[in-house]
Amino acid sequence: MLVGSRHVAFTNFHRLVAEVRPEIDAALARVFDSGVFVLGEEGLAFERELASVCGVEHAIGVASGTDAIEIALRALDIGPGDEVITQANTCVPTVAAIVRAGASPVLCDVNSVTGTMSPESLASAVSPKSRGVIPVHLYGQCADMQGISEVARAHALRIVEDSAQALGALGSGRAAGGHGAFGAFSFYPTKNLGALGDAGAIVCSDFDLAVRVRRLRQYGQIGTGECVLRGVNSRLDELQAAILRARLPGLRANNDRRRRIAAEYDAALAGTAAAPLGRLSDSVHVFHLYVVRTGRRDVFVDELHRRGVETRIHYPLPVHGHPAFRSLGGRSVSLQNAERLSREVVSLPLYPELTDAEVEYVANAARAAANLN
Ligand SMILES: *Cc1c(COP(=O)(O)O)cnc(C)c1O
Repeated sequence: MLVGSRHVAFTNFHRLVAEVRPEIDAALARVFDSGVFVLGEEGLAFERELASVCGVEHAIGVASGTDAIEIALRALDIGPGDEVITQANTCVPTVAAIVRAGASPVLCDVNSVTGTMSPESLASAVSPKSRGVIPVHLYGQCADMQGISEVARAHALRIVEDSAQALGALGSGRAAGGHGAFGAFSFYPTKNLGALGDAGAIVCSDFDLAVRVRRLRQYGQIGTGECVLRGVNSRLDELQAAILRARLPGLRANNDRRRRIAAEYDAALAGTAAAPLGRLSDSVHVFHLYVVRTGRRDVFVDELHRRGVETRIHYPLPVHGHPAFRSLGGRSVSLQNAERLSREVVSLPLYPELTDAEVEYVANAARAAANLN
C-alpha cells in the first residue's frame, strides 16, 4: 500500500530524452544525411570532445564499457598467464572483461568507509603473475589513486581505471580516467553520459597505446587493411556518437545537479542510522549513484517502497557471490568489507531530471525510513 499518491521511479529515460529531444533529432538527421554510419566524422569529433573533458590526449570510441576494459588490457599486452586485480564489489562486467582478454581475475577488498579499492588489500593480492590492476571509481567517486598508484609502481602493475560511473569526477585534482595507463568509460543509458543504446570509450595520453587501441578495435587492421594485431570488432557507431555529442554539453550541469540532490539527501539523513557512503576529501564526486548504508536494510527499503520510492541495490552480491565466479573467493585475501557492503548498501533515486518536489519527497521518505532503524 502506498502512502500518498507519489511514485518516484529509480530511472526515467522518457524525461532524459525529452530534455534534449531537438538536439538528438538534429544529430540523427545529420548522420542520416551524411550516409556514413561507422567510423566517420561524428565519432572523431566525439573522441576529441571526450579527451578534452577528461584532460587526456586521446580518446577512442568502442562499442561498450566492457569492451573498453578488454581492449585496454589487450593493448597493454595483458592476457593468458597474467593476473589482473580488481575489487570484489564491482559490477560483473569489470571481471568479465578481464576474462575476455584471456587473463585471470583476482579480487581484493575495499575501504570499509568509501567502498573503493583498498591499496593495502591490493598489495596483499599481488602475486608474481600480477600484471594489471583495475580500480573502479565506484558510484561516481574516484578511488584512492595515490595509494593505488604507489602499490602499482612498486609491483610494476599497469592501471586501467574502470571509470564507467565517473565521467567528470576528479580525484587528487585529476579527472577520472586520467590517472592510469588507460581509463575505460561506458555510455550505457543509465550512466552520467548515456547513449541511447550501447557505447563506450578508452582514454589515454600515450600516442603509441592510442594507436594500438585504434587497431585492436577494428580487427587489428592498419590503413592498408593488413592485420598487424589480433583484434576484435568493437566500434562506436555514428548514430550513438552523434547522440553523445548532443548530450555532452549538458554533462557539467547534470553532474552539478546530481551533487545538489546528493547534498539534500545528505542533510536529510544526517544524524540517522542510515549514513551515505564515505567520501574522500580531495575528490569531486559525480554521484552516478547515491548509496546509503544501513544495518537494517530490509526495514529501510520496505518503508521507502511503502512511500512509493523505488530503490535498487548496487550490488547485492560481491563478484565471488555469483555462481560463475565463486572460485575467485578462495584466495587468502580477505574480502570482508566488500561482503559486508553487499548486505548493507541501498541506492536512492538520483538523476538530474528529478523535480525539486520529488527530491524533497525522497529526502523526507529516506529520513523517515532511517528513523525506523
Ligand atoms: C556499466 C559498467 C560497466 C560496463 O559497461 P557496459 O557499457 O555495460 O559494458 C563496467 N564497469 C562498471 C563499474 C559499470 O558501471
